[in-house]
Amino acid sequence: LRAGLFGGTFNPIHLGHLRAAEEICEALTLDRMVFIPANIPPHKEGHELAAPTVRERCVAAAISENPLFELSRVELDREGPSYSIDTIKHFVAEYSGAELWFIVGEDAFAEIGSWYQFKELFSLVNIAVMSRPPGIKAHILPSIMEEEFFAEEWGYIHSSGNAVRFVSVTPLDISSTAIREAIRAGRSIRYLVPETVREILEKEDHFGPGE
Ligand code: ATP
Ligand code: MG
Repeated sequence: LRAGLFGGTFNPIHLGHLRAAEEICEALTLDRMVFIPANIPPHKEGHELAAPTVRERCVAAAISENPLFELSRVELDREGPSYSIDTIKHFVAEYSGAELWFIVGEDAFAEIGSWYQFKELFSLVNIAVMSRPPGIKAHILPSIMEEEFFAEEWGYIHSSGNAVRFVSVTPLDISSTAIREAIRAGRSIRYLVPETVREILEKEDHFGPGE
């Protein structure tokens, strides 16, 4: 089994997430992509956040047509803030023997040095870094990690044998932030999210006041 682990706030999920996930599945020939909505995200406390059940329902609705896509409640069911390291350990145990890829966008990867116990991530899973507009100039690893990696054309190999691979996906400059802003301003979100997600979001206000 080759599986992708795609964590995010998904506040809400949008076509940028979905298309990137589809292309990562193809590029890495994954058999499965697990979408993992975060509980209280450590970097986003205080931001306008829809209820976990709403974010979960939107992910479920968005992925239902794709046989490779799955939803995991592991972070929503865990008490306290969601740390990726805990989630990765969960899947390493659940999918023992599988090739696991932790999926992050460039913007998220650029901050990985601030994540809880981030050094341990690299020895537990492969990491796929998806391109994301507007794009960053270089793919820089946290400087304290330098001796533990070999540079390759496509990314890096960690001393554990795991890869950090940079994958270009079709640039879709869509963000949940822009979708929340559009909703607040009464503008259309059609063609930014799947129709089933638009229906859930347009029924009532899920995001509360602005940041
Ligand atoms: P927000 O604007 O609230 O931060 P977001 O659109 O960035 O929302 P997240 O839930 O933060 O969505 O993203 C989850 C993961 O998906 C992150 O690793 C992020 O980099 C990646 N991602 C989000 N949107 C895109 C996109 N349009 N293209 C590629 N990757 C994306
Ligand atoms: Mg984000």
